[in-house]
Amino acid sequence: MERLLVDEPRKRIRKCGASDCDVYYLDTSKGRRRQWCSMKGCGNREKQRRWRCATQ
Ligand SMILES: [Zn+2]
Repeated sequence: MERLLVDEPRKRIRKCGASDCDVYYLDTSKGRRRQWCSMKGCGNREKQRRWRCATQ
């Protein structure tokens, strides 16, 4: 896994946008708009957090 990341262009390696996650991931999405290492994990968690902030 680590070797695979090193071989890829650096631009596509991004750090997870979740404040409590330090995972680096390979952004293979179109437009490179992905912000989290895992949409199901950090993505959902961050969305819920923002939603809560907006409604409280
Ligand atoms: Zn993450």
